[in-house]
Amino acid sequence: MLSEERIEYYRNLGLKITPQRLAILEYLEKHFTAHPTAEDIYRYVKERFPSMSFATVYNTLEALKERGLVKELYIEEGKKRFDLNVQPHHHFYCTSCGRLIDLHEGVKVEISERFKNKLNILEIRVFFLGICDRCQG
Ligand code: ZN
Ligand code: MN
Repeated sequence: MLSEERIEYYRNLGLKITPQRLAILEYLEKHFTAHPTAEDIYRYVKERFPSMSFATVYNTLEALKERGLVKELYIEEGKKRFDLNVQPHHHFYCTSCGRLIDLHEGVKVEISERFKNKLNILEIRVFFLGICDRCQG
């Protein structure tokens, strides 16, 4: 369950809180590092709310995105994942199990002066592809 404080936080951002939306927010906060897709979220919350429609999940994610509370990630072709961690960070994608691991530090990105002078860089996002520790075992 989300605390009253958390609910208040979402309310103050102008998000209408319904029991369905609460279930979606709970799922997102609990599965924070899993980078779920809208389908993942829908499958889970539909168990608790059989009347839940995919549109509700989609609209909630859109509302969160508009308020800067989630970020969309496109790594796999045709699959959009959501990240509740909107702080700048990088990702490692395991091509064997599909796990997406957050990399918060230890990544250095250098951009040559030639590009620095021409391009206005707003954010740097790096995706590493490979085999994760679990899959190597
Ligand atoms: Zn793996
Ligand atoms: Mn992430």
